[in-house]
Amino acid sequence: MKIEKVKCNLCGQDNFKILFKDTPPGRIVQCKNCGLVYANPRKTKALIEKIVTKKEEPREVEKKWLPEYIREKKWIQRNFDVRLKLLLKFAPKRGKLLDIGSHLGFFLELALRRGFDVVGLEPSEMAVEYAIKKLGIETKIGTLDSIKFPQDHFDVVTLFHTIEHLPDPSKIVYQINQIIRPGGILVIETPNIKNVWVKIFRRKWRQFLPNHFYFFSRETLSKLLEKNGFKVLDTRTIGKSLSLDLLAIRIEEHVSRTLGFVLRKIFKFLFLDKLAITLNLGDIIIVHAKKVRSI
Ligand SMILES: [Zn+2]
Repeated sequence: MKIEKVKCNLCGQDNFKILFKDTPPGRIVQCKNCGLVYANPRKTKALIEKIVTKKEEPREVEKKWLPEYIREKKWIQRNFDVRLKLLLKFAPKRGKLLDIGSHLGFFLELALRRGFDVVGLEPSEMAVEYAIKKLGIETKIGTLDSIKFPQDHFDVVTLFHTIEHLPDPSKIVYQINQIIRPGGILVIETPNIKNVWVKIFRRKWRQFLPNHFYFFSRETLSKLLEKNGFKVLDTRTIGKSLSLDLLAIRIEEHVSRTLGFVLRKIFKFLFLDKLAITLNLGDIIIVHAKKVRSI
């Protein structure tokens, strides 16, 4: 696999300490200057871009994931509904909303219902096809590198679990500054590296996934936003509802195959598999920021 060494994406320095040597995304380091945690060395930028745009991934791999998402739509949207209510505190006038990494359009479907004028941007062709045909959501295929939007155009830009997958987070926040209007709101939800689970599970932390390259904290995310013309209004950890069936699947994947398998059977037997619980493990943060200066 092609790998490359990278400098800190936040401050540009090449001065780090090693946190974990061998995780699914590679070696995890922390910048000694600004504190950013990132995979280094890591897959090359070209390879990450291929993964992000799904050019690496056979359609069959995606096909496997789609039914799971569609089956969980109700719960995923329950989660997005919590996020929308929070967003409305900061953007009560609504307006034009761009969701970057909009996937199947589940968030945009709700935002549209709540009065936003919505558009999605998504590199996966299969997801875009679903969003347009099944949900009627306007969605562009691509990334901010390939799709151009007018200057100062959007009132709100959202990124849910997108920034940690990108090869260059600084660049995307810069690009968003160009297309969001002054006073517009940027929402970023991403794993939070500063939490107790990293200390317990260390390299086995559930967010060290093969395609996660950046691990922000409140501090480093604020620095990234401030550097690019945004003022942070609110940062908090946020939880997620998931069906007991999916919870058992996650336990099977991350904790123990046997335990997960047994739980799945028990939940199914007791007709509990369609029930949902809400979990806030403290390892996901959501930030709302306002554009205060054009750069
Ligand atoms: Zn740095």
